[in-house]
Amino acid sequence: MEASIAESTSKVHWGMFWEKHGMAVSTAVCALAAVVAWLAGRMELSSWEAPLYGMAYIAGGYRKAWEGLQTLLYEHDLDVDLLMVVAALGAASIGFWQDGAVLILIFSLSGALESYTLKKTDNDIRSIMKLRPETALVLKDRQEIPTRAEDLRRGDIILVKPGERIAADGVVTEGVSAVNQASITGEAIPVDKDPGQDVFAGTINGYGTLLVTVTKAAKDTLLARIIKLVQEAQSERPPSQLFIERFEGVYAKAVVAGAILVMAVPPLLWGWTWEAAIYKAMNFLVVASPCALVSSIMPAVLAGISNGARHGILFKGGAHLEAIGSVQAVAFDKTGTLTEGALQVRHVVSFGQGDETEVLRLAAGLEALSEHPIAKALVQEAKNRGLSLPEASGLQAVPGVGVYGLVAKQSVRVVSEAGLTAPALEKSEREAMETWKEQGKTIVFVEREGNLEGMIALQDALRPQAPEAVNVLRQMGLRVVMLTGDAQATANTLGREAGVQDVYAELLPEQKLQFVRQLTQRHGSVAMIGDGVNDAPALAASEVGVAMGAAGTDVALETAKVVLMADDLSKVSYAIELGRRTNRIVKQNIAFAFSVMLCLVAGVFWGEVNLPIGVVGHEGSTILVILNGLRLLR
Ligand code: ADP
Ligand code: MG
Repeated sequence: MEASIAESTSKVHWGMFWEKHGMAVSTAVCALAAVVAWLAGRMELSSWEAPLYGMAYIAGGYRKAWEGLQTLLYEHDLDVDLLMVVAALGAASIGFWQDGAVLILIFSLSGALESYTLKKTDNDIRSIMKLRPETALVLKDRQEIPTRAEDLRRGDIILVKPGERIAADGVVTEGVSAVNQASITGEAIPVDKDPGQDVFAGTINGYGTLLVTVTKAAKDTLLARIIKLVQEAQSERPPSQLFIERFEGVYAKAVVAGAILVMAVPPLLWGWTWEAAIYKAMNFLVVASPCALVSSIMPAVLAGISNGARHGILFKGGAHLEAIGSVQAVAFDKTGTLTEGALQVRHVVSFGQGDETEVLRLAAGLEALSEHPIAKALVQEAKNRGLSLPEASGLQAVPGVGVYGLVAKQSVRVVSEAGLTAPALEKSEREAMETWKEQGKTIVFVEREGNLEGMIALQDALRPQAPEAVNVLRQMGLRVVMLTGDAQATANTLGREAGVQDVYAELLPEQKLQFVRQLTQRHGSVAMIGDGVNDAPALAASEVGVAMGAAGTDVALETAKVVLMADDLSKVSYAIELGRRTNRIVKQNIAFAFSVMLCLVAGVFWGEVNLPIGVVGHEGSTILVILNGLRLLR
């Protein structure tokens, strides 16, 4: 029994080793065999040469040859790697064993380098996965039962000791602590947690012991979903890559046809020897193959995605990285995006029979059923004032307008000015309202049974980083605008403070969507930044929808193309800059790959480029474009 376990673990180790270093080992064997074969040639042990070179060819080429053959057989597609192997065999067939061996060796070496470098981007993702703790302590009948994280169920209560990683998504039921949520939000400053607050799997508990009630099964935690998104992002190829791949298929066939022509025409027309023609053809096959072109995009895009992930920016695919790099305008939602979204009640005014308290009670009673930031603020204020909330029912939320419903059996509306049904305001009331709007306050009105009962002014603070973030974007040459459902005067004030160039206010959610379309026509491609609460249509309509705060809403994770894990506005410019760098590097790569290819092809026909030089140029340019792409990791 034990022996078999040891055996199987050693098999696993060997498998892992082979997966990681197999290409390097094959390359080393290939190099050794080639060198010994060359020495044998020098020492005129010619009977040794062929088997040794054969070994070199097999060690260095079997992997790609096998893959290439499978592509050919099952997908009826020509893989450029296969062309390399064919070229080497072609060279060998006319006695140029050595040149063929150089080709195979460098080809294998660059393959090994490529796989190591690409694993580097993969490692970043794997390091996120390691954040999942394996076990948790479940409290049951006053006992601590160690349980595997994947066996945790909703409703389980887990004990999280200081310094431990939290194993599940849940709500704190007991204890206070500060939790480092960097793994989720990219933000290293610990966040205070006390009973009632959400905690996330993979985050690190600080000084206090916490009791947490599990709210999500292991596969549904935020961390699990993030990992899934990043994995999907890696396999989703951007349009540019798809284009190159289609091009590769056609082009590779053209190269083969070209090589056949080079092999056949000169001997027939100009009396070349077959050897010379085959050599030229193989040489052409190598330098004209689009290996560098094929490696121009994906390594760069993967490196960009993984760079983003490390900075708390989740790209749902390479396409969105490229897209955000070419936006010309950025549209911000106001509430919860440019502002904190944590409103505070500043003034309550009564117009009707009831007093201020009655106005607040009515509003808060109804809003207790709503999730809007305004609703939360009103409920909080009522709590602070120690008010008991009346019974409410039948809530109807009209996005961008307000809420309707029954409070104590009377119909009540809490709405914006546009949602009012009651008669117009009196002059003094209107003046007060205008002043508050100038101060950036948000005004809502309370109606009961069609009578205007009062108005409430709420203040929302601009996020401290907003002006700086907007400024950076403007310096990058982007048009920065704000879209909001709030009143024009209020929006103007906040927009001025933030430094945005245009303010579009009093927009219903579907109007926001139309505005995004208009902006797209006026400025070119637009990135819409929202908190995902009521901006879903606009996020979807923009070229790149960017949601703030993955830890906040589920909608954010689903509708947006890019998710800023923390509520950090400065990441917007980082994401755009990263996209721009990616696009720049991809362009460089493609231009470089093409030029090298053209030069080498010209060199083969009119210059001094023989097979070894062609191989070095060809593989060298492939490695260079990959390394150039990996600069995006930094
Ligand atoms: P934003 O575009 O700033 O995110 P919304 O579209 O959510 O704002 O709302 C626009 C306006 O509609 C608010 O300023 C408010 O006047 C009104 N409103 C929306 N929802 C509510 C609500 N639950 N209670 C009261 N007023 C609301
Ligand atoms: Mg909003």
